Order: sequence, then structure tokens, then C-alpha cells
Amino acid sequence: MSQTRTRKIYVGTVAVGGDAPISVQSMTKTPTTDVQATVNQIAALKEAGCDIIRIAVLNDDAAEALSKIKRSVSIPIIADIHFDWKLALKSIAGGVDGLRINPGNIGALWKVKELVNACKDKGIPIRIGVNAGSLQKDILMSYGHPTPEAIVESARRHIEILEEMDFNLIKVSLKASNVPSTVEAYRAFSRQYDYPLHIGVSEAGPPPSGIIKSAVGLGILLYEGIGDTMRVSLTAQPEEEVKTAYSILRSIGLRAHGIDIISCPTCGRTRIDLINLVKEAEERLRPLKKTITVAIMGCEVNGPGEAKEADVGIAGGNGVGLLFKKGVVVKKVMESELLDCLVETISTL
Ligand code: SF4
Repeated sequence: MSQTRTRKIYVGTVAVGGDAPISVQSMTKTPTTDVQATVNQIAALKEAGCDIIRIAVLNDDAAEALSKIKRSVSIPIIADIHFDWKLALKSIAGGVDGLRINPGNIGALWKVKELVNACKDKGIPIRIGVNAGSLQKDILMSYGHPTPEAIVESARRHIEILEEMDFNLIKVSLKASNVPSTVEAYRAFSRQYDYPLHIGVSEAGPPPSGIIKSAVGLGILLYEGIGDTMRVSLTAQPEEEVKTAYSILRSIGLRAHGIDIISCPTCGRTRIDLINLVKEAEERLRPLKKTITVAIMGCEVNGPGEAKEADVGIAGGNGVGLLFKKGVVVKKVMESELLDCLVETISTL
């Protein structure tokens, strides 16, 4: 797997593209005008490992609130705006680190120019966010459907507007709710452009199906080296999106965050209550904020091998378990004490 090299831009302090690690984004789901609730949600997202937060700015009140929110948080903020260039200007004045707005939807070119100049002054990037559900009418007419080619064509039009104004702090997303179209659109785009890509499967739905759809779509792209920043869209709390993003990144060896539990599915050989042990371990380990691998295995078939490879591991036996730390057996523990021992051992790492 090799990462496709794109240009590097910055969203606040976070590098996106080039050799930068793939950043994880999410979007607040509170009313933007509720400053306190939004600030609290941002704090929870940051705690979950989110790198960049997007906030919807739908009117003047939201733009006012955005500047207050920005002053209360220390994570880069992107203002998500549709059509209204004045809201974009207001958001820039309020200190945002990036914009998500499609220049082709703003209207008169002088408005776009004013916006682009404000972005140039502050070094703020613009994400062009093409969505299969809202392509320009004439593009839809000529392609018949929101095909991957139609999605790329839409992105091209928006990009050309910015390039003609000599602006290239650009990031692009090409989302569809359908995984094959999303993958094909990103592939086609990355063959033609080196702008950094924000990847995501749009409107993926609720967990677990939304998680699976996102994992398949984003997994394929990331494995092919496509994607510089990502957002998993779920009908769920935003922290769930961040958690899922890291699971995807970790599963293909791109970026780790938090505790990764490796556990077996259990079978007729299992002689401890492994399913509940894993469930309780997940709960107890979550607050520890460590980036490590923990193996919890049911028996001696694959148990010792996995437990040895992990930072901490358990290989179950008959009512007991062998506890491993950094590849070495520490002790044999009764089943009733396994959970406490595991948590205690991990706390000392
Ligand atoms: S590790 Fe042992 S208990 Fe777990 S699934 Fe494999 S054989 Fe069964």
C-alpha cells in the first residue's frame, strides 16, 4: 500500500495531504447557536481523537455563535456553508480555519472573488464538497445519473473557478451514498488531480450498517493510497464516527488511537466466559487513553500466539487464564480475577 502523493495544505495547525497522517474529522450535531452544547460536543470529539471539526453555519446567528465557539476551543474548525458567501465572510472574520463551500453555487463571480481574497489573506483552505445528491442540473442531464464521471465533472467546474482566481488551497470530496460510485469517483479524480482528498461515504446510515458501508468504501480507498482526511458519516453520536474512523485506519495499519482489542469468536473449546470478559474489558479499558493492543483469547490453540504479539494478552484455559505482558507470561490467574488483573497490568504500561 503506498499513499498517493497530494499537495499539502493546512487546516489551522493540522496538515492535510502530502506526507501528513490521515486526519479524522467529524461534524457537530448540536444547534450551532447553542454555543455551550456545541463547545461541549467539540470537547468530547477532541477527547475521542478527532483532529478537525466541521460546523454547519446556516444563518447569521449561527455565524455569530461560530466565532464564540472558535474562541472556546483549541481544535481547527471548518465552517460548512451552502450558497451564502456573506456567511462565509463572516465565518472567516470569526476566525475559522477552513471553509466547506462550493464556489459554483455562490452566484456572481465578484462574490466568489471577494471570498477567495479573504481566504488568501488568512491562508484558509476551501473544501469543494461534491455530493451525488446535489449535482448541477445540466451535468445530471448530460450524464443521465449521478455517475462517477458526473461527480468528477462537477468537481472540475468548481475547481476551475478557484484556479482562475489563482487560488489553490483546495481540498475536494466526491461523495455518494453508494459505495461503488464513491470509490470510482475518488479513483477517477485522483488520476487527474493532486489536490488533497477528504474521503467519506455520504449518508451511510445508522450503525452497524453505516459502519460497514463506510469501512468498505473508505477501506478500499485508503488501501489504494487514496484519501488525506476522512469523515465517517453515521446517524449516531459524532464520537461514534471518530471511533469508527480510527478502527478503519487501524485495521489497515495507517493510524492507531486507543486500545485495540483482539479477541477470538469463542467456540466449543472455550472454558471461560470470554464474551462477557471482553465486553467488560472494553468498558473498563476505555478511560485509560492508551494506544496499545490487547489480546483476549479463549484457549491454547491461538491464544498464546496472539497474546504474545499483543502488548498485554490473556490466553484462556479451564476456569483460568495465562496473563502475558510484552510477550512474556506474567502469571496464571483465576477466571474471577482475570479482568482486574488485565486492567491493573494495562494501567502500569
Ligand atoms: S482461540 Fe480457542 S476458544 Fe477461541 S475460537 Fe479459537 S479455538 Fe476457539
